[in-house]
Amino acid sequence: MAYDNIAVPDTGEKISFSKGKMQVPDNPILLFIEGDGIGYDIMTASKRIWDAAVDKAYGGARKISWMEVFAGEKAAGVYDGNYMPDETFDAFREFKVGIKGPLTTPVGGGFRSLNVTLRQVLDLYSCVRPVRWYKGVPSPLKQPQDVDVVIFRENTEDTYAGIEYESGTEENRKLAEFLRTELGATNFFPDAGLGIKPISPFGSKRLIRAAIQYAIDRGRSSVTLVHKGNIQKFTEGAFQKWGYELAREEFPEQTISWDEVAADHNGDVPNGKILIQDTIADIMFQKMLLRPREHDVIATTNLNGDYLSDALAAEVGGVGIAPGANIGDEIALFEATHGTAPKYTNLDMVNPGSLLFSGVMMLEHLDWFEAANLITKAYELTIDQRAVTYDFARQMENATKVPTSEFATRIIANMDAV
Ligand code: NAD
Repeated sequence: MAYDNIAVPDTGEKISFSKGKMQVPDNPILLFIEGDGIGYDIMTASKRIWDAAVDKAYGGARKISWMEVFAGEKAAGVYDGNYMPDETFDAFREFKVGIKGPLTTPVGGGFRSLNVTLRQVLDLYSCVRPVRWYKGVPSPLKQPQDVDVVIFRENTEDTYAGIEYESGTEENRKLAEFLRTELGATNFFPDAGLGIKPISPFGSKRLIRAAIQYAIDRGRSSVTLVHKGNIQKFTEGAFQKWGYELAREEFPEQTISWDEVAADHNGDVPNGKILIQDTIADIMFQKMLLRPREHDVIATTNLNGDYLSDALAAEVGGVGIAPGANIGDEIALFEATHGTAPKYTNLDMVNPGSLLFSGVMMLEHLDWFEAANLITKAYELTIDQRAVTYDFARQMENATKVPTSEFATRIIANMDAV
């Protein structure tokens, strides 16, 4: 496909799919969106680290060909004021995998969040957030090493569908009238703002399927369905019901439910089986503080997942280091989970960790685990040497504060020592 403002690299091949399986060439073309604010600093530093790790892990036999695509303020400069050009969507449809820095959502003027737009237009229905602790990273927990979960948050439904009717509008009045007279729903005050929370079997099951498949592929031991089904029975409760149903119907050999474990196996999960369990959302926050080892992969609805992802990230170092990805059937977009931190723009100061580890997830997605592991180990060594960016330096004793670029240089140098 021809692009107006995107330069397709001369070297490198497209990632493709054959019978539903991703085919990754040794020299794949991967997309990147630099991001606004601190985007330039963290993307420049992280790309150096990813490239060095691939080079060192495979002795030059594998190499990423980077292709820049645009969104946010940089896009507005290139595309005459357009923050979200169609070409960017086309490039993701064609090349499948990429990574992005944070994007400013312009305030006012009817702009939707660019991040939400990307997820919805490309149907990236799983928001995947691994939460684990790296040795030496400041944490408020006594035993942060016990936290090692991967959250699968549904990305397209729930109150995020944007079906809301403002108090005082004609639409709101019509809907209220319909609810009262046609459905006998009278338990709400006059002039209440009204919102709809759609949760479907299709949307729930494809998310839970992705979570169970991930648990199988990565040798994880359980999938916890997190929901508010005690109160919202036909949305959150249905999510839980459909989750158990899906596990029983599509993964009968690999999974076992908590009820079966209790009834037939004396409470012990049989070897090789993935436990499917569920928890009410509010108690999950407490459990993840007090007994985090009991959870491994989490599958949850959109709003629960939003709260839970940031709360759990805080247990192991905060959003400066928490990575994330938005994944659909074929397209995967990895992303820093924090914002553009405008006051630090171009100061070469901030922590590249969130974007860096989103890239580690991307390497794992390609099955390039050797390069991914090399980065993780070199990162831990660098933290152990107490050379860190300002945000960690102020929480660690005897730390040396280093710029983003130097932090990257030190990680690359440490790759030879691990
Ligand atoms: P923010 O995450 O940009 O910054 C909040 C604070 O967190 C910063 O002031 C800084 O102290 C700290 N911080 C963030 N990233 C850091 C890093 N890598 N290293 C060290 N410290 C870091 O949140 P905000 O100020 O609420 O939002 C600013 C802009 O970012 C807004 O335009 C918002 O729309 C956008 N935003 C984008 C995304 C995204 O692209 N995924 C997410 C959130 C916010």
